[in-house]
Amino acid sequence: MSTHRIAVIAGDGIGKEVMPEGLRALQAAAARFGLPLEFTAFEWANCDYYLQHGQMMPADWFDQLKGFNAIYFGAVGWPDAVPDHISLWGSLLKFRREFDQYVNLRPVRLMPGVPCPLANKKPGDIDFYVVRENTEGEYSAVGGRLFENTERETVLQEAVFTRKGVDRILQFAFELAQSRPKKHLTSATKSNGIAISMPYWDERVKAMSANYPDVRWDQYHVDILAARFVLSPERFDVVVASNLFGDILSDLGPACAGTIGIAPSANLNPERTLPSLFEPVHGSAPDIYGKNIANPVAMIWSGAMMLDFLGNGDERYAQGHDAIMRAIETVLVQGPRTPDMGGTASTTEMGTAIAALV
Ligand code: ATP
Ligand code: MG
Repeated sequence: MSTHRIAVIAGDGIGKEVMPEGLRALQAAAARFGLPLEFTAFEWANCDYYLQHGQMMPADWFDQLKGFNAIYFGAVGWPDAVPDHISLWGSLLKFRREFDQYVNLRPVRLMPGVPCPLANKKPGDIDFYVVRENTEGEYSAVGGRLFENTERETVLQEAVFTRKGVDRILQFAFELAQSRPKKHLTSATKSNGIAISMPYWDERVKAMSANYPDVRWDQYHVDILAARFVLSPERFDVVVASNLFGDILSDLGPACAGTIGIAPSANLNPERTLPSLFEPVHGSAPDIYGKNIANPVAMIWSGAMMLDFLGNGDERYAQGHDAIMRAIETVLVQGPRTPDMGGTASTTEMGTAIAALV
């Protein structure tokens, strides 16, 4: 297998502290299973760079990154110095759009050793994926203000759903469901209130389902679906949603399964023509930066997801992924644990313990 080239962007805040731990686990897996990984670090897409250059990234960022197989990304944002909309739109959101990472994938899994905010849940009870459409839908720039500064002031913002955009996210979600033992897909919708775009989404789900006769599927209005996440998370397997609904559900899901410090995510270009991006769900957490107490598990788990994607069925990569996941589970149960999990260990201690078990 040819070398996989990985661009490493630590970013801001605790991104800089958890990234070395993610790399430590990946290096361990690469050494043990002979994975041809090549890492290249980039010192931009962070707020220090912005303060020096007036922009988050160099003008040729796309050309510099397009040849990589993946981007391993820490976190971006330092709101005291740079407004979040500038740092985010100037880096991460550019990657998602320009690299056509139209799938945002978040596992929601209750891990052993992690206290669950929901009563009476044990590992195995919560194990599903949220698949969020990442490039269109409600997050569009189409719209504007009418009759500005008058009594009739009116603001419009359009949601844009294309057949290509809807079908490709549904296809990804159905295929993911088909690959899992439960083979069950749930579509989040709101066709009673949003009477044009959501019935279209429902129609495309039904059409797509014909290609996957072995996948059972259902659809829920997103409001009751959110309640079900909390009340009966056991019943979900793969949940697919538009950009806005998926954004909300993909924060709610991991919150139902414990601390934000362990939740991973992937932004995928499933065709692999451009790099996919793997990052923790959490942000740069300025409040705890500099103390070396951030939980490194979200970063490390995101690295395991990256191996799974890069391997694309290759046995050695699957073994690397599984070894990292087992090491995470063992350390979540036995410690050492960071303070967010009630422990006293540093980021480095927890990360080193995980890498030693890979
Ligand atoms: P976003 O990047 O979405 O803007 P945010 O800046 O609002 O996120 P985070 O940076 O994720 O939020 O931090 C939210 C809270 O969770 C903070 O109090 C932070 O200390 C805590 N937190 C986030 N990540 C971790 C982690 N890896 N370990 C421990 N605590 C964390
Ligand atoms: Mg933030």
